[in-house]
Amino acid sequence: MTTIDHNLQTVQARVRQACADAGRAQGSVALLAVSKTFGADAVRAAALAGQRCFGENYIQEAVDKMAQVAAMQLPGPLEWHCIGPVQSNKTRLVAEHFDWVHTVDRLKTAQRLSDQRPAHLPPLQVCIQVNVDGGATKAGVSPEDAVALARAVAALPRLCLRGVMSIPDALPAGPAQDAVMGRVRAVFDAVRALEGEGLGAVDTLSLGMTADLEAAVRAGSTLVRVGSGIFGERHYPAA
Ligand SMILES: *Cc1c(COP(=O)(O)O)cnc(C)c1O
Repeated sequence: MTTIDHNLQTVQARVRQACADAGRAQGSVALLAVSKTFGADAVRAAALAGQRCFGENYIQEAVDKMAQVAAMQLPGPLEWHCIGPVQSNKTRLVAEHFDWVHTVDRLKTAQRLSDQRPAHLPPLQVCIQVNVDGGATKAGVSPEDAVALARAVAALPRLCLRGVMSIPDALPAGPAQDAVMGRVRAVFDAVRALEGEGLGAVDTLSLGMTADLEAAVRAGSTLVRVGSGIFGERHYPAA
């Protein structure tokens, strides 16, 4: 068994335990393996261990990795999720190569993604990124503006609104952390109410990482994004 295989099993067990502790159904929380800064071989090891969904932050790195992974002819289709910031000059690469994008926080980006989504691909699956704790400089739409953005995104022809994503600042486990997670959950509930207007299939709360996945599952996360817990410590190239 590889280290990645072993780590994956450990993280899966954490997710199962978190579901049990929260009284939630097993299988109600999906695992996104965040492979940023790790190479195609790491993706290969995780895929051979059964992992299907991968998250990437840096668009060009991701597109290069996807090509290498495709050449490996691994079993089963993999699903690629963009979880990093999407600058205007990168929307075309995202629209052409990813299955999901979690980080839409302005309508202009969403419009470009919809315009640039190739006709032969299914609609791009989209989460609205919400900023519940960071002030104006942090990525993400404010909770007050999230529903209006979600409604506008749901109306775009080549996007499918799926839910809400957030990256709360790291906090120790405890009431303050639960409160922040709860604020994200409240935005998700408000966006999910759009289903009543016939907009989208809003079923995804993308919340929780290696350090805080238990609190995220308690708050109702349906998808945790785990990087270091699976692949190990990241080493960023010197700038
Ligand atoms: C890097 C990253 C993760 C994974 O973080 P870990 O702490 O390594 O699990 C999750 N979500 C986003 C948006 C990230 O950028």
